[in-house]
Amino acid sequence: MCKKGQGFTGWTNKPEGKMSIKEEQEIMKLWEKLGDSENFFESVYQTEPPWDIGRPQREYTQLEQAGEIVGSVLDVGCGTGENALYLAAQGHEVWGIDFTPAAIQKAQEKAAQRDLYVTFLVSNVLELHTLGREFDTVIDSGLFHALSDEDRPVFVNNLAAVIRRGGTYFMLCFSELEPGSYGPRRITQAEIRASFRDRWNINYIRPATMEGRMRPEGAHAWLSSISKE
Ligand code: SAH
Repeated sequence: MCKKGQGFTGWTNKPEGKMSIKEEQEIMKLWEKLGDSENFFESVYQTEPPWDIGRPQREYTQLEQAGEIVGSVLDVGCGTGENALYLAAQGHEVWGIDFTPAAIQKAQEKAAQRDLYVTFLVSNVLELHTLGREFDTVIDSGLFHALSDEDRPVFVNNLAAVIRRGGTYFMLCFSELEPGSYGPRRITQAEIRASFRDRWNINYIRPATMEGRMRPEGAHAWLSSISKE
């Protein structure tokens, strides 16, 4: 079972400025409550999630411009679809999957409004093998760091089922260099390397920025490029 909301405490939607301690405590309480609920992500998508910036993550637009994103693309944990829609607009065939119906519904509405075609599906990343096809590239913006320890290897096995040999998985996750304890759990390079030890080649893990709505400067992240042997 996927532990929804693990590590998600104290996110805030406040776009700028410093919070008072009282404000911060109240937001912490709210998000802890949501984090405990079965429907963490569904509840958050009724509001405006702090990660949902209304445009693609800069790391992904840069990867695309650098030509690193090739062929067909699967966006795992696509949320409301900004990264998937951006890549579709650049001419890729794109699928986006997320287990939160409210997110997929928003993504489908955006695709229709923008006249873009992306196959958006409600689906669990722990069951990727059920998609029944392979992609050249898989992208992940903020999904891996939301998985529990026990779900990580299940996800990585499933990933292998949907990437072609030599295809690449790009992953953007919070890094341990990010101070404080708000937001998702932090991931170290060692953890990434341990998860992709077998059957994978790690091309790079480089310092990156994950943009968010509450902090204009973004959060310390790792951007990983990992290819299937
Ligand atoms: N990639 C999006 C959303 C990041 S938040 C963006 O950059 O805006 C993480 C997303 O992963 C949420 O939308 C959540 O619903 C989804 N998610 C978490 N666990 C999942 C799972 N096991 N299967 C499918 N989606 C999952």
